[in-house]
Amino acid sequence: MIKNAHIHFNHLGTPVADQFDDVYFSNDDGLAESHYVFYQQNHIPQRLQNHDRNHFTIAETGFGTGLNFLNTWQHFAAYLDRQHAELEVQNQHDLSGKKTDKKSVNRLHFISFEKFPIKRDDLAQALKAWPNLNEYSEQLIAQYPINLAGCHRLEFAGGKLILDLYFGDVQDSIDTMSYPSEGVVDAWYLDGFAPSKNPDMWQQSLFNKMRAISRANATLATFTAAGFVRRGLIEAGFSMSKAKGYGKKREMLIGELTEPNEQQSGPAYFAHQQSELSNVAVIGGGIASSSVLYSLAKRGLKATLFCQDEALAMGASHNVQGAVYPHLQAKNSPHSEMFAHSFLYAMRLYQQLLDDGFDYPHQWCGVLQHAVKQGLADKHQNLADKALWPAELMRNVSAEEGDEIAGVDTGYSGVFFAKGGWVNPPALVKALFNAANSLSATTNNKMDSHFNCHIEKLEKTADGWLLHTKEQTFGPFSDVINCAGEHSDQFSQTRALPVVGVRGQVSHVQASEQSKRLKTVLCHKGYFTPEYQGHHCMGATFEKNSKSREVKEQDNHTNREQLLNFYPNCEFATTLGEITAAKAAVRCTFIDHLPMAGEWAEQSDYVSAFANLRLGKRYQYQTLTKPQQGLHVLTGFGARGLCSAPLCAENLIACLNNEPRPFSERVSQAIHPARFIVRDLIRNKI
Ligand code: SAM
Repeated sequence: MIKNAHIHFNHLGTPVADQFDDVYFSNDDGLAESHYVFYQQNHIPQRLQNHDRNHFTIAETGFGTGLNFLNTWQHFAAYLDRQHAELEVQNQHDLSGKKTDKKSVNRLHFISFEKFPIKRDDLAQALKAWPNLNEYSEQLIAQYPINLAGCHRLEFAGGKLILDLYFGDVQDSIDTMSYPSEGVVDAWYLDGFAPSKNPDMWQQSLFNKMRAISRANATLATFTAAGFVRRGLIEAGFSMSKAKGYGKKREMLIGELTEPNEQQSGPAYFAHQQSELSNVAVIGGGIASSSVLYSLAKRGLKATLFCQDEALAMGASHNVQGAVYPHLQAKNSPHSEMFAHSFLYAMRLYQQLLDDGFDYPHQWCGVLQHAVKQGLADKHQNLADKALWPAELMRNVSAEEGDEIAGVDTGYSGVFFAKGGWVNPPALVKALFNAANSLSATTNNKMDSHFNCHIEKLEKTADGWLLHTKEQTFGPFSDVINCAGEHSDQFSQTRALPVVGVRGQVSHVQASEQSKRLKTVLCHKGYFTPEYQGHHCMGATFEKNSKSREVKEQDNHTNREQLLNFYPNCEFATTLGEITAAKAAVRCTFIDHLPMAGEWAEQSDYVSAFANLRLGKRYQYQTLTKPQQGLHVLTGFGARGLCSAPLCAENLIACLNNEPRPFSERVSQAIHPARFIVRDLIRNKI
């Protein structure tokens, strides 16, 4: 569990950490010192204008009040304005940077590590000292994460500024990270408390880990001039020198990594390689494809959607009301980690859409999971005993409290997800698509889309991927992202995808006076939503190995029976009216109940490259020859795409674009497309 910082404000109004007895920033114009020591001594202004790629990554040890982050943001925003004006003059509107010779940066990643996050109210109080930063600090405070360990990806400035805020000890956090062999960090702000007060932040083991995630030519700057820090960083591989300190301070340290990195997280068979992403085809029409289009558009990358239906969200995303909440276990598993962080990211994204004027029906009314069976009551008790999850994410509630939240009498205890609720999935998918479209319209890479367009065949040529319908051929594309849900295995190249289709039917039932009192989404074995337009959604059935989207009368009956079975004496359930409509869909899942996001390599190539897995993990492997480079899958979200698709899409594009990744290495492996083939090789089954 993450513990907050205990802070007080000294007589000059500077925040002081009680645990460390040290100030968060200098009493003597902390903002100017932050700017000089970290921003200028890392030469950020010059490097933004002349970099080897169009995104730049800063990492910081110790987020504290976020002052360094906010200062960097303010200057980056001014830089973006200047760049925009310059580009207008030169008539070079392409902000993606892919087509212009000028290698100027147009996206900034800021990674920061924090073991003891400041409470939100304290943060607001501390940042009042900098009225010039108000515009930025207000947005930071609005998105400031809850006390959950791991990486919180926050996005600002239309996705041009990303903050990956890791809660937890800096060393533990770096150990969890997923990164490519060339590293990800271009500049370091070393801003722990003074080495004498905060020795953990100045250890050799940390310096070595910093090196592992640094790119060649990464720089570092720190306020301290301590000899052991300088020597330790030299030992880790940085060339170090002294610079003039800020104000009255005599010296500070700066450094640079002059050698390239060659260490990647995780084994070769779970690696993610960079892809070209110059012209991406996305196949699908649900929450996965809208999410990935949005991630591409934020980066100014060219994308074209191919949807076999006449409109978006005709597949598994087509219910009237879909519940949004994470699936959390009573253990710190990759599964829980993926859902917890994906949920928080999705909720921030969905709020951002609303703030940006992309509306959709929704209610952030929470989701209450009732202990309707002994097995569920035991599970909930286990969750309470393990106490892994912060109460803002999930909390156990007694029957009394649960009924108070729900506004109806049920007598069931349960667990409550206060930040969850319901959305209208088709409208949400469209809102996300429209947001991606309008983001892409600000670049030269306007998104394209083709509806009623059934792709029958994928063909890899020397120029890229061709997509064939019966009558037409599209392409070539540098990359194809297959988000086709239950149809993801329809192409000859993806036939081996072990997709499991599960049919589900949701019934729309007329509300009664009593049922209208329901104030939150209820989950039992299925779910039941608060009234919307005179109806509730009630469902869903669960039928494996059926691909039919036909509505069945019997399933409506089953849905009502199930509700009455769990709530036989509850007025909200017994007074419901007619079932007036229903929707059936086939959700795409995998047997481990996790989605899939990553490159889909030629399977025979995988088997031969990693054949030695049959002998044990320590043997040498060949490398993949990758005949299918550029073909990716993003699918298998089951009934939980609203929760998990946006961050899975973001992680996929981050991997393919060699950027910092929001998912940890273990989550990345858990959702890797090669996981089943690797498992079968290890078990000697293939
Ligand atoms: N950069 C911050 C700012 O702009 O406000 C100030 C950082 S303050 C000097 C140092 C921060 O490091 C504190 O917030 C502290 O909680 C954090 N910290 C200390 N030990 C840590 C550790 N082992 N892992 C991660 N963060 C740590």
